[in-house]
Amino acid sequence: MSDLEQRVAETIRSRKMILPGDRVAVALSGGKDSTVLLMILCRLLPAWDDVRLTALTIDEGIHGYREDTIHSAERLVGKYGIDHIRISFADLFGGSLDEILKDRQSEACSVCGILRRKALIVAARRAGATRLATGHNLDDEAQSVLMNLLRGDLPRLVRDSSHSSSGQFIPRIKPLGLVSEKEIATYLMLQGAWVDLPECPYTLHALRREVRAMLSTLEYQYPGTMLHLMESKRKIKGYCGEETLAGPIRSCRECGEPCSGEICQFCQLRQSLGR
Ligand code: SF4
Ligand code: ZN
Repeated sequence: MSDLEQRVAETIRSRKMILPGDRVAVALSGGKDSTVLLMILCRLLPAWDDVRLTALTIDEGIHGYREDTIHSAERLVGKYGIDHIRISFADLFGGSLDEILKDRQSEACSVCGILRRKALIVAARRAGATRLATGHNLDDEAQSVLMNLLRGDLPRLVRDSSHSSSGQFIPRIKPLGLVSEKEIATYLMLQGAWVDLPECPYTLHALRREVRAMLSTLEYQYPGTMLHLMESKRKIKGYCGEETLAGPIRSCRECGEPCSGEICQFCQLRQSLGR
């Protein structure tokens, strides 16, 4: 087992991310992070008691981008022989992301994120999943911390969806959360699995793009910056408490799904899109 695989196994074990009998749905976009996540989970699978994996691929409908990554996802599940559920925005929401955005392209990532989260929940339920694993890495997580701080969004900063004591939602796990983007790229190259994939055209509009560039520079000049950001989040949450900052989890007035306000983000978006 490689050093990276051992570290991911240790993260999963120490944080009790996967337990015997779990049905783990793996969000597989076909990009680098989710590819590495699925590869490592498939390698660890024989050591776990009665754990089953199902890959979930959401086709947002982004012309010139998603075709290649979906093809890559299909090749991977074929290689490992695991179940695969594929759902498109067009099937679920009546249109592709390209169609839904029209003249709202500057909001692409927030619209895409809300709809993708919804699509993943639908797909994970279809898979009978008890956990939903995503390929977020350390860079993604540190970027999210900084973005939430820049927006003054403390509830989102501390909200933890990795456990659900009330059973209101499928717990989300991020086994690569302490693995950097560079380590993921290196792993793919060493495994001979590196594939050049196109970049989403909407990243041009994302605040994340600027935060990512800034954090990469800082991490290069001051190694450990990203881990320190994660530590800051943990301390803020520890000192103030999740419920104090984020409030209790309620049920959306419209759809009944768990949310922090009266209406969930999905229902708010659906209303604003007039769908
Ligand atoms: Fe969606 Fe934005 Fe990611 Fe493109 S970059 S897939 S629009 S979240
Ligand atoms: Zn709702």
